[in-house]
Amino acid sequence: MNREYIVNAIKEENVEFIRLEFTDLLGDTKNVEVPVSEIDAVLEKKVMFDSSSIVGFTSIEASDMNLHPDLETFNIVPPALEGGESVARFICDIYTPEGEPFKGDPRSILKRALKEASDLGYDVKLGPEPEFFLFQKDERGYHTNELNDRAGYFDTSPFDRGETCRRNIAKTLQKFGFVMEASHKEVANGQHEINWRFDSGLNTADKIQTFKYVVRNIAANYNMHATFMPKPLSGQNGSGMHINISLFKDNKNAFFDENKEDKLSETARYFISGVLKHAKALTAITNPTINSYKRLVPGYEAPVSVAWSHSNRSCMIRIPATRGQGTRFEVRSPDPTANPYLAIAALIYAGLYGIKEQYELGPVETRNLFEVESDDVPTLPTNLKEAIEFLKKDNVISDALGKYAFQKFIEEKEDEWLDYNLQVTEWERKKYMSR
Ligand code: GLN
Ligand code: MG
Ligand code: MG
Ligand code: MG
Repeated sequence: MNREYIVNAIKEENVEFIRLEFTDLLGDTKNVEVPVSEIDAVLEKKVMFDSSSIVGFTSIEASDMNLHPDLETFNIVPPALEGGESVARFICDIYTPEGEPFKGDPRSILKRALKEASDLGYDVKLGPEPEFFLFQKDERGYHTNELNDRAGYFDTSPFDRGETCRRNIAKTLQKFGFVMEASHKEVANGQHEINWRFDSGLNTADKIQTFKYVVRNIAANYNMHATFMPKPLSGQNGSGMHINISLFKDNKNAFFDENKEDKLSETARYFISGVLKHAKALTAITNPTINSYKRLVPGYEAPVSVAWSHSNRSCMIRIPATRGQGTRFEVRSPDPTANPYLAIAALIYAGLYGIKEQYELGPVETRNLFEVESDDVPTLPTNLKEAIEFLKKDNVISDALGKYAFQKFIEEKEDEWLDYNLQVTEWERKKYMSR
């Protein structure tokens, strides 16, 4: 997409405002908006912002940052998302005033990981599957704890009350260039899933951010609150964000090998063992909230074991039966609170490390680990603190994020853990008041 195309599109669509979006360290999309009269400054990468209060960004002394819009991410925002207004958006990279990519910019961190892969000749393809819940709102427009329906897996309307909302989300995503695949009611009441076609590493992270923005705003138009919280209700399935990964070399799927019995290449086996070997530290990045760990428990289709299998949902990694160009593996542990840029960067680093070190893949797991207790199968961390402790010791994931972001991330998450531990909950009062 070039400058001329963008300037024309802005004129034709009578765009009045331009949103410049980026992602903070914890994965939230942020934006500054400028009037269209500023388009030259935008395209010349001259728009600055004060980053001092953004999580993971810089201290007061060096807080001015530059926004470099990625022209490929230019999009006219469907007016339904912005109260009928005429708005366009860019996703931006963040640069220091000295013209260096900012070390705390998750998008730059992902770009570096993708460069590592391409230096080895690999093109990373990813297909994420984010799930979410729809809750009712109160009269002031804030979420309640009431779901919007009581429907289950693949149910239809009128029991599924999110159907037209979901359809509208899919239609809106098409306007952002998503190639839509299936969409359906998920297992838990009020829970949904919408899938799109796999894409490159950078596009996938950008799309996850756009997806959340679209889901939240369309749901709001239906007077519902969409949440990506991993486990909003105890005793019900939580929301995951499975990530399907494959590597391509010279346009061929590098995970496929005709001559192997299971048709999986050495590259696939090394990459998967890299991810398994770093699984515990990775979990801090792919499951970064207190609540994330309430999803990773036995019995709710979320994984609990650092193991791989073909069909077993208790394992962190599953290899679907598809072979040829569709050969891939699915990481089942991530949830939608992960910062997609960091999560993908960390997964790539772990996998590439497996290739470089030629890690051997352990045997396939055939037992249902929700039911069988086994000492020889390592488990995923059971809380954020445990995950952070593994993260601190992992040099590969530290390299993936770079020292600056790695330290900031750990600091943020340790604060979150401390804050949580200071809370006295309703559960405790119920349990202990009479003791
Ligand atoms: N909701 C499940 C999870 O937490 C996944 C269910 C599914 O997609 N099969 O990961
Ligand atoms: Mg799915
Ligand atoms: Mg699902
Ligand atoms: Mg899946």
